[in-house]
Amino acid sequence: MADRAHPVTEQRHADLRSPLPEHERDLPVDVGWLRWRAKLFATVSERNFHLVTDLAAYASISGMPYLSHYAAQVYLGPKTGRLKVPLMAINLGLVTTREEADRALAHETMHLVVPSYGHKAAAFARAQLLLDQVGQLTTAPA
Ligand SMILES: [Zn+2]
Repeated sequence: MADRAHPVTEQRHADLRSPLPEHERDLPVDVGWLRWRAKLFATVSERNFHLVTDLAAYASISGMPYLSHYAAQVYLGPKTGRLKVPLMAINLGLVTTREEADRALAHETMHLVVPSYGHKAAAFARAQLLLDQVGQLTTAPA
């Protein structure tokens, strides 16, 4: 689905607040961390997805070219046969900090949970809720 073209959408996305402590927000993103983090979003949203960072593989599975200016994208499968577990592609060329990764994960997970919300304010309120829930998950005693 097309993402983040409109300036209002850009701003709402940029306003998403990561629950990460300040000193972790600018740390680089590696695939291991991203996979762990993605699992937390899948847990709080109760919506499983496959995380894909190989954009060529994503393009080949979805049958659509991955646009290089997209930070992230989800693929639900064709209308006639939705995937049981959708794909979420994260472009590590653009998502370079953990704070940006949190925003991207929250944004795309929101699309999986409430696809009809589009990019309305309510959509980003849901994305923020997911971030807050991930924050509670990671600060709760083990
Ligand atoms: Zn979006």
